[in-house]
Amino acid sequence: MSELEQSNLSFAAIEGHEKPVTILKRALANKTLAHAYLFSGDAGIGKKMTALALAAAVNCRNAGPEGGCGACPSCRKIATGGHPDLHLLAPDGEEIKIDQVRQVQADLALKPFEGAKKVLIVDGVDCMNTASSNAFLKTLEEPPGDALLLLITALPQSLLPTIRSRCQEIRFQPLPRRTLAQALVRKRGLSEEDAWFLAALAQGSMGRGLEMDVEQEKADRGRILELWSGLAHQGPGETLALAESYAKDRDRFDRLLAIGVECLRDAMVYRATEEARLLVNARAEEQYRQWGERVPFSGMVADLELFMASRGLLDRRVSAQLVAENLFFKLGRG
Ligand SMILES: [Zn+2]
Repeated sequence: MSELEQSNLSFAAIEGHEKPVTILKRALANKTLAHAYLFSGDAGIGKKMTALALAAAVNCRNAGPEGGCGACPSCRKIATGGHPDLHLLAPDGEEIKIDQVRQVQADLALKPFEGAKKVLIVDGVDCMNTASSNAFLKTLEEPPGDALLLLITALPQSLLPTIRSRCQEIRFQPLPRRTLAQALVRKRGLSEEDAWFLAALAQGSMGRGLEMDVEQEKADRGRILELWSGLAHQGPGETLALAESYAKDRDRFDRLLAIGVECLRDAMVYRATEEARLLVNARAEEQYRQWGERVPFSGMVADLELFMASRGLLDRRVSAQLVAENLFFKLGRG
């Protein structure tokens, strides 16, 4: 999370998620906050930020309709992670271990130091093993004092039913592409075209949208689109050399194949709708138009199948060199 975001933990700073935020604001205003919430939804879409905003709201003395004021010592400590009444529990490696749960239980048993409420955020509650889950159940059944427990997960279906049933679940949906794109223009200073492109790739996740390297993503798509236009004019020697260069790095080759699948989907969508706004990569609109004039729809479907089959072969540990040669020669014939 960037410093900019950390400094503002009011509900107003949360992008999208109107429904979860409204539920929480209403509960705060009516003083009907549950003692435990389960925030579920894809990784990186804003669940933790919402949990921090709620923690700030319940502990801020100047809290308003948008939650914490952001300026008082309590809000500032929550923003920087140094508030003595805010506890974070996250996996140590792969798991949340029972010792971590016990430690947090001991912390929660103490009276609040300075805040009105102790808050525990469990980021990745699905990472609790059976022993940790069973130990944690005690806290959920009888939360010490009036502690507020905020459980976060991308995999709600993997939780013990006894854990899930003791929380009020609030579901977070992926952010709509438009919401995400507008936020990326503001937060990253991207052009609208780049932001619209990244918003599609991030699939509703603000976290991914903030992290992705837009220039690298553009370059990768350029490389794949060039491949198509180049293969038909190449001799066998050049195609073999190209296959060798792609096969050198298996993971990267697989990633480029995934981008190939995306380009073909885009080309098909464009052929069917002629709507650039529906494309992942609208920058390639002109190429898709020309492609549509040259290649029949059945040819696009055949290419799509070739790319997907190639990914399947890589997955089954077939030699990357063989997969690349087979794919490129077949594409070149088309
Ligand atoms: Zn405050």
